[in-house]
Amino acid sequence: MNGTELILVVEDEPTIAEAVASRLRSEGYEVALAADGPSAVERCTALAPDLVVLDLNLPGFDGIEVCRRIHTYRRVPVVMLTARDDETDMLVGLGVGADDYLTKPFSPRELVARIKAVLRRARSAGNAGPSLLVEAGPGVIEIDPTTRRVSEDGGDVHLTPTEFDLLRALAEAGGAVLSRDQLLAMVWGYRDGSGARTVDSHIRSVRAKLATDVIRTVHGVGYALQTDTIRPTQRIGSPGSPGGPSGETAGALPTSRFGGQR
Ligand code: CA
Repeated sequence: MNGTELILVVEDEPTIAEAVASRLRSEGYEVALAADGPSAVERCTALAPDLVVLDLNLPGFDGIEVCRRIHTYRRVPVVMLTARDDETDMLVGLGVGADDYLTKPFSPRELVARIKAVLRRARSAGNAGPSLLVEAGPGVIEIDPTTRRVSEDGGDVHLTPTEFDLLRALAEAGGAVLSRDQLLAMVWGYRDGSGARTVDSHIRSVRAKLATDVIRTVHGVGYALQTDTIRPTQRIGSPGSPGGPSGETAGALPTSRFGGQR
């Protein structure tokens, strides 16, 4: 989009690394490779990739530690590769901060679709509307799409990028019920309906971080915000501050905001 995007593929199994790399190159991406934790961090620092495909189980130190280290200085998007679905649940629960998770074995087509969705979200992150105030019982949750911060009764709530997008999607629906498939399409950008578990585990994680139980489960359907009112406010969002789509993936975002789980 803005020139060629560089993807760092971190994977210690050479056959998978090669297959992923050649597929990504055929899609027009530039690809760099790393095969262990320490070199992943080094290459990420040196190359400033637009996205990292990160295997969880690596020699040196694992993908969780890689994610933590690379996010201390830059909010680079991460797609994490796991061996099992329950590993994904565990990582989401830990708030590791990957933007998406893919369980092995996966099809190259699926990986490419997810990478495109994550890059699209990263690019549009700066094009944001006013803050949303969600009033639920005595509490007020404020969702600011410009800074991508969430506060509850004035205190910061540290959500991962995906958790933020999920909560924002529910708030923007204004209390209407969104199905898991709708949320998968809106937040993750995919259409095949495979990933209901992913939605559920991220919802659990958002719930755990908010003091007010604001998310309503509609059994057999999906989720909605349980709220008295949701209204936009210009109080905090500074109009005119968001930049254009170019440069949003270049890593100029201040780490203090997105460094996340300390
Ligand atoms: Ca591995």
